[in-house]
Amino acid sequence: MNAFRNNIPEKTFATLNENGEFTRLAVSPGIINKHYTPAQFQKIAEVVGEHGTIKYSASYSILLSVPSNGVEQAIKSLQEVGLYIAKQGSVVAMKACDFCDGDKMEAAAITEQLYNALEGIEVPKRIRLNVNGCASACYNAVYDDIGVVYQKDSFDIYLGAVPMGAHAQAGALFAKRVPMQHITGFLHQIITLYKEHGRQEEPFFKFYRRTKTAVFWQALKNE
Ligand code: SF4
Repeated sequence: MNAFRNNIPEKTFATLNENGEFTRLAVSPGIINKHYTPAQFQKIAEVVGEHGTIKYSASYSILLSVPSNGVEQAIKSLQEVGLYIAKQGSVVAMKACDFCDGDKMEAAAITEQLYNALEGIEVPKRIRLNVNGCASACYNAVYDDIGVVYQKDSFDIYLGAVPMGAHAQAGALFAKRVPMQHITGFLHQIITLYKEHGRQEEPFFKFYRRTKTAVFWQALKNE
């Protein structure tokens, strides 16, 4: 019964890395594209080799454990076959839906613009900013720290989600119909508030709960 065979993996990042000899890389085909090519899978297998591990995650990426002494070459090889390697740490991390496998691409260009402007900004604790390309929001944007849902030349913004745990809950609608041309600046203002007023290691939802009646939220401009 393969569904429950080998429930406990032989190797994990934690067991491999007891002496700090392994590095974890989060790889994917891109922020929007979710399809790997056979060549990419071959390269992943080659880079991980006999000793590393491959694990799928809940954040639309595959987690590789690779020997730290070869990590720079591993990154170069993975990038050469078109794989994206996510930045780690307390930064803004972008996610997006697959825009119906490329059939609904109206918000794709602005998503790339948001990536260039916001991905990697240092914040008190890692936040996920998830862009979904229509009101179906089937990639669960409303359950990420900043949910951004496209609707006909504008975006709805959701804040305050508790992304996981027994008290997980969706974010609340914070701003409706933010025009395309203002979305980058508007999200940048939200992230700047978190940078300036968030406590070290304070999750975004706790920051939002603590401060949502503060006057600085009212001063945000979406035009
Ligand atoms: S959120 Fe909308 S555009 Fe994105 S994959 Fe789902 S249905 Fe398609």
